[in-house]
Amino acid sequence: MAADELLIDAHTHIEPQYAEMALRVMDRSGVACSVNLGWEDAYGEKLLKMLSVFSRWPNRFAQLCNIDWRAVDRPDFGSRAADALEAAVEAGAKGLKIFKNLGLAVRLKDGELLRVDDRRLDPVFERAGRLGVTVLIHTADPCWFWRPIGPDNFWSGVLEGQYARWSYYRTGMPCREELLGERDNLLARHPGTRFVSPHLASLADDPLTFAETLEAHPNLYADISARLPTMVRTPQRKEIWREILIRFSDRILFGTDLIFIDPDVATGIQSQSFQRPGDLDLQGLSIEQSYEKTSVDYTAAHVKFLGSAELQPEAPFRRQKGSFALQGLGLPKNALEKILYHTPKRVYGIEN
Ligand SMILES: [Zn+2]
Repeated sequence: MAADELLIDAHTHIEPQYAEMALRVMDRSGVACSVNLGWEDAYGEKLLKMLSVFSRWPNRFAQLCNIDWRAVDRPDFGSRAADALEAAVEAGAKGLKIFKNLGLAVRLKDGELLRVDDRRLDPVFERAGRLGVTVLIHTADPCWFWRPIGPDNFWSGVLEGQYARWSYYRTGMPCREELLGERDNLLARHPGTRFVSPHLASLADDPLTFAETLEAHPNLYADISARLPTMVRTPQRKEIWREILIRFSDRILFGTDLIFIDPDVATGIQSQSFQRPGDLDLQGLSIEQSYEKTSVDYTAAHVKFLGSAELQPEAPFRRQKGSFALQGLGLPKNALEKILYHTPKRVYGIEN
């Protein structure tokens, strides 16, 4: 495969038992390397197992580690978590992934939610900076998760049913502005640490604030995963996002958020697409073949979205009622290659 066709998928969740399935998807999609974020449990023994399994295919996977929050009440939690990060990096981890549970679920003994910018976590971010490894930190969610669910909610097709738990509407959870403000405090407090904020920094609905946030924080990068339909909700938004992706192509990473874990593979449909069995024709494939095919299709839809200006009338992203017509951005070659390959390669120190 020509170097200019290679991709790095900077956002995936692959359990070790699905390494070979993920590799088949990568090979069929032109993905040279997948950054594997874990599933909140990539620490200790589990992390070592992941590193040992994925290292069987050198340079095809870049494994991140997670934080074990169970001892969060210990006064030395921050320095212990920093030491755990350093040990993980020595064992082969390429960075740290912090899930959105920081701010929304990790609680102290007194029941209070740990804040995203809590000072006790400072040693972790300082150590990441000193080690030169990237911190991928997911904070908050799309604005729609705080709004009533109904026909006017762009995410209603996802927030119903099995994903109802993702809705924060009237649940008493912190609001988005609190969480994103705390994240921005963190970015300002640790200028020597490189952060990636996934899902367009939770600002997919607000491209101008996204651009201003990248301008204000030179240590901030963002991946595009799981937010494509939002970017092109209207033709005007599409134009604004296109311009922003070109302007910040040194700081924007390609990513799909592909998921390969037990409960999801069993559905036979790449779960990140949020599609349902009635949405597509699976042509009598086995569950595994079908999961593989829908994962390949999902990745291809991303690449086509970025690189071509074509409309994908039935793109594999469920929104509101059924699938979504995805208008492509048609990025120029230079910006496209940076986003697909060079920027993720640099940010995660990938040797591929
Ligand atoms: Zn993810």
